[in-house]
Amino acid sequence: TQAFVARAQAHESLGSFLHLDADNALAQARAADERRAAGQAHALTGVPIAHKDVFVTADAPTTAGSKMLAGYRSPFDATVVARLGRGADGVTGAGMVSLGKLNCDEFAMGSANENSAYGPARNPWDTTRVPGGSSGGSAAAVAARLLPAATGTDTGGSIRQPASFSGVTGIKPTYGVCSRYGMIAFASSLDQAGPLARSAEDCALLLSAMSGFDPRDATSAERPPQDFHAQMRAPRAGATAAQPLKGLRVGLPKEFFPQALAADVEGTVRAALAELEKLGATLVDVSLPRTELSIPVYYIIAPAEASSNLSRFDGVKFGHRADKYSDLLDMYKKSRAEGFGPEVQRRIMIGTYVLSHGYYDAYYLQAQKLRRMIADDFQASFRECDVIAGPVAPSVAWQLGEQGNDPVAAYLADIFTLPASLAGLPGMSVPAGLGAGGMPVGLQLIGNYFAEGTLLHAAHAFQ
Ligand code: GLN
Repeated sequence: TQAFVARAQAHESLGSFLHLDADNALAQARAADERRAAGQAHALTGVPIAHKDVFVTADAPTTAGSKMLAGYRSPFDATVVARLGRGADGVTGAGMVSLGKLNCDEFAMGSANENSAYGPARNPWDTTRVPGGSSGGSAAAVAARLLPAATGTDTGGSIRQPASFSGVTGIKPTYGVCSRYGMIAFASSLDQAGPLARSAEDCALLLSAMSGFDPRDATSAERPPQDFHAQMRAPRAGATAAQPLKGLRVGLPKEFFPQALAADVEGTVRAALAELEKLGATLVDVSLPRTELSIPVYYIIAPAEASSNLSRFDGVKFGHRADKYSDLLDMYKKSRAEGFGPEVQRRIMIGTYVLSHGYYDAYYLQAQKLRRMIADDFQASFRECDVIAGPVAPSVAWQLGEQGNDPVAAYLADIFTLPASLAGLPGMSVPAGLGAGGMPVGLQLIGNYFAEGTLLHAAHAFQ
C-alpha cells in the first residue's frame, strides 16, 4: 500500500485520481494485516484498489466527475465497493485496500475522460493522448501501475474502450451480474460494473469478489455466487496443453471489420485472431447486421434514461444549488445550468426530446424495438460460435482535444462496444499488441449471457 500510494502521488500529473487518502489506505492495510494474521484472509485481502468516482463511498467524497456533486458524501458504500472492501457487515468483504476515487467522464458520459469537470486523465503510454473513457482514470492508473486493479463501469463501452486505449484488461459482465446499488445511475438498463486489471486472471479474481445477487438492486441476477477464477482455469473438454482452446468457435462478425477500421487496429486484431487459431480455436464468419444501427439506438435509449435519472439533481435532494435565484423554478434552472457540464446538458435535452409526447413513438419506441432485434442477431450468431471477437474501437487512443467540439465523432467511435451493451452481453478487452504511434490495441471478446468464464478462459490462454 505504501509503495502504491507513493507511486500514485509521484504521478499525480496523469490526472487519474480525484481523491487519494493515504492515511485511510494505511489504516485499511493494517486491518488487512490483522486479518491475514488471524488466518481469515481472502486472496485479495490487502491488495490495493481504487474506485471509479461513480461508486458511492462512505469514507471518501463521490463526484461522478461532476461539479454538481462537488463535496458530496454518501452515507453508505456501493455494494461493489463494500464487497471488495470490508463487506456490508464489516467483516465478510474481500478486504482490499481502497486508495481513493478515480477520474471519469461526468456521470460516465464520454469516451475520453475529457468530459470530467475536474480535468482530463492522461494516457500513460503517451501523455498527449486520452486514456479512453468514461473509466479513463481507472485505465490510466492500472496502465501506469499506480494500482494493480480498479473498478469501472460500462454503459456503452466505458470499461472495454479505456482498457483497449490504455493496454490493460477489462471485463463488463452480463447485465445483472454486479449490483448497481450505490452506482450513480447513467442509463439503468445498460449500466454494469466490472474490473480493470493487468490480466484476465486478476479480472477473474476481482469479478468473483464484486459480483453476485443483491436484493437492493431490482435487476440483479438471482444466481449462486460464481468462482470465475475456477471457471477461467477449468480445461476445455478435448483441449491439450498446446491447444487449450481446441474446439472453441470464435465468430468474426463481418460488420466489425468495415472499410473505416484503421489499418493498424485491423492488423493487430487479425494477428491476435491468428494466435487464437494457433491455440486451437476455429474462426467462423458470422454477421451482426444491425451493428451500425446500435449507434442511433444507444444514443436514444441512454440519453432517455439519463434525462430521467439525472432529474434527482435539483439542488434540493442532491447536488449543487445556485447562490442567487428568484423562485423555485429559477433555482432548479440555475442550479442545473451551473452544475452540469455541456455533454450532460446535451444528453438531458436529447433524452427529454425523445421521451416527449409526439416523439416517443418515433424515436424511443423504435429504438427499443431495434434493441431487441440487435439482441436477437447475437443469439443467431451464437448458434454458429461460442464467442465473438473483433476490435474494441476503430482506432488507437486519440490526442487530447483532438475531437474538439464534435461529440458525434466520439459517438461514432463507440460502434463496436454498443451492440453487446444493448444486448446485455458480457464483453471484455484484452491487450492484443501495439498499433499506430506505439499505442495499445485491444481485442474484444463477447460471450453469451453469463459466459464470463468462457471469455476469461480464452483471454487467459491468449495472455
Ligand atoms: N462512450 C459512451 C457514452 O458516452 C459510453 C459511456 C459508458 O459506457 N459509460 O455514452
